Parts: sequence; C-alpha cells; structure tokens
Amino acid sequence: MSRQITGLKPTGHLQLGNYLGAIAPAVRAQHQTDLLVFVADLHALTVDHDPGQLSGLTREVATLLLAAGLDPAHCTLFVQSQVPEHVQLHYLLECAATYGEAHRMIQFKEKAKAQQQVRLSLLSYPVLMASDILLHDIDEVPVGDDQSQHLELTRDVATRFNAKYGHTFVVPKMVHQVFAARLMDLSDPSAKMGKTGSSGAGVLFLLDPPEALRRKVMRATTDAGREVSYDRAARPGVANLLDLLASLTDGSPQALADQFSSYAELKGAVADAVIETVRPIQRRYAELTADPAQVDAVLREGASRARDRASATVRRTTEALGLLTS
Ligand code: AMP
Repeated sequence: MSRQITGLKPTGHLQLGNYLGAIAPAVRAQHQTDLLVFVADLHALTVDHDPGQLSGLTREVATLLLAAGLDPAHCTLFVQSQVPEHVQLHYLLECAATYGEAHRMIQFKEKAKAQQQVRLSLLSYPVLMASDILLHDIDEVPVGDDQSQHLELTRDVATRFNAKYGHTFVVPKMVHQVFAARLMDLSDPSAKMGKTGSSGAGVLFLLDPPEALRRKVMRATTDAGREVSYDRAARPGVANLLDLLASLTDGSPQALADQFSSYAELKGAVADAVIETVRPIQRRYAELTADPAQVDAVLREGASRARDRASATVRRTTEALGLLTS
C-alpha cells in the first residue's frame, strides 16, 4: 500500500475548490492508501498572519476535514505544529538544500513580488514541504502543475542527502494528477477560487449558508451570448459552472451543456448541487463543534501516531549528519 500525504493551510475559510481539489480525493484515498492529512499551520506563518485567528482557523479546518468524511480509523489526521519533528527536520534539510535552489522557485518569486516584507520562511517554504514529505517516508505524491517544482526540490534534496550521508530518506515518486479539477472564482473566471486574495463574492465557502451559496452562484459572471455551450476559451464563466456541476454530479461538462437552455437554468442547477453537497458536511460540522473535546482527542491521537515514524526519521537524519545523539 502506498503512503500519501496531503496538507491544507489554515489561511482562511475552506472553500469548494479545496473540497473538490483536495478534500474529496483524500476522503476517497483513505480507503486505498496509507493516508496522512495535516493542517499546515506552520506554512500559514510564511506570509503576514493574524495570531488571533490562526488557532480558530486551524480548528475549523480540522473539524471540516472530519465533517467532510475523513475517518481517523482510516487515516492519520494531525496539526503540523503538534508534530515538532516537522520543524526539526526542516532545519536539518536546510543544511542539505541550497540558497540557489530555493531562490529559483517560481512560487517564491511570485509571492515575494506581492509583499513589502518577505519573510525568510517564504524562501524556505519548499524545504518545509520537503520535510513534511520525507519525515513520513511518503512514497507517492500526487501533484498539480503548481507544486511540481517543489516536489522536484524534495526529490533532489533527498537524493543528494542519501548519496552524501548514506541512505536515509525514501525518495518520493511524483504522480501527476490526470485531471486536476481547478475551480475558478465565480466573479472572475480567470482567477483560481481561493480562501484569500479576493472579496469573497465569487468564492463558495464550505460554511456559507445555503442562501449565500445560491446568491453567489446566481450572480456568477457569465459571458456574452445566451446559449449554454462548453467553450473554455470563449466562455470561461459558463465553462467554470459546467465544470463545477460536472465534478459535483460525476457528469461530463459537454453533455451537461446540452441539458440547459439558459444561463439562469444552469445556475439554478449548480446552486442546487452545491447546496446538496455541503448540506451533510455543515450538519456534521455543527455536531462536531458542539463537542470540541472529541476533535481535540482525534488530533492528539493523530499527532501521536505521526510522531512514531517522524521521530525515527529525525533520529536517522541526526545520526547520518554526525550530530551527537543521546
Ligand atoms: P491551500 O491550502 O490553499 O494551499 O489548498 C489546499 C489544497 O486545495 C491544494 O491541494 C489545492 O490544490 C486545493 N485547491 C485550492 N483551491 C482550489 C481550486 N480553486 N480548485 C481546485 N483545487 C483547489
């Protein structure tokens, strides 16, 4: 059985893109792989953050992951900072990665451009990601295009470390996602739907009330013309709605296009499907928030399980590097 890992940053409220692109695949994968899922709170510190909100968002993300169907009997769910070995290995790997490697990362260049004060942790973020993967002996990492450069860095660092200091890390295989559903912002179909960075008018948050979800879908930007057809280049707004409906109903966007005679009709169907998808998640979320001790217990148990392997990896690494181990 392969071992996989997936992380979600608590930088905002989870939205439907997170569900379709990361959470729903994880819920399916937990039955076929040895799956670790973590709330990447350390990664949330790489850009300006609000300490007053971080712990609340961390708990919200963890609770939503459980509400969406992750089952602690089938996966290991934990909060990254509660497994301190992530930080330990991060530093040790910084001693094997180079400045040039980190500086070449396209995401670093793009994110750094948008900020006045660039945190050093933004530069070394891919090394923390390498630590997340190598710490748990992950053998396969499914990646979309935006993460493939970071995974290459993980593989390079692990390979170099093994060659120099003896076999220490499992070098993970990169599995390109065949179809990575990419949900676009409903008010700007040229931008990816995201937790942060927009007004939220075109973002379907998993905890939005049904009326808000319907309103956002009904106001989605469509394109000139009236006929519903699937054309990503010429009609990106309509194509996004068709893609969304297709992923929620397991249909094909082209076939769905033929079923609607107006944009309003298509939007109504999308709103219904979105509301049906989030309804059971919101119900379960309400139950779980009524009993936060249960969520805490799941996270404690997850961290403890994750630490068993993580501490062995850190021990192997410190020994290989020649540090005096107790
Ligand atoms: P983040 O915490 O924002 O880095 O996102 C966590 C996961 O959600 C990543 O694996 C993303 O690929 C996925 N994700 C976020 N937004 C979208 C989107 N609009 N469409 C598809 N997947 C998404």
